[in-house]
Amino acid sequence: MAQSKRKCYCSVPSCSNNKQKFPYLSFHKFPVDAEKRARWVRAIKREGPSFKILRGSTFVCSRHFAPDDVYTTASGRNRIRQGAVPSGFHWNDWGKGKG
Ligand SMILES: [Zn+2]
Repeated sequence: MAQSKRKCYCSVPSCSNNKQKFPYLSFHKFPVDAEKRARWVRAIKREGPSFKILRGSTFVCSRHFAPDDVYTTASGRNRIRQGAVPSGFHWNDWGKGKG
């Protein structure tokens, strides 16, 4: 069956956010630049041969970025600032004790 809707999943360990569950979150592709990409992979602790970044299906959801690193374009899309690296995860208590 052909799927018209692309499923976006967050690739951060123990984060199971996806576009269907959280349509208001944005899902961000890994940077094309190898060095920046490596920084992201290191940040989400997915280094190793088993982690593959697939275009169109490997994303990091906007929850892992500092609010300052996420901006909205004129067309209403959420974007990540150049050079931003995901920094908020369950292992550093991101989001805990807030709100
Ligand atoms: Zn996530």
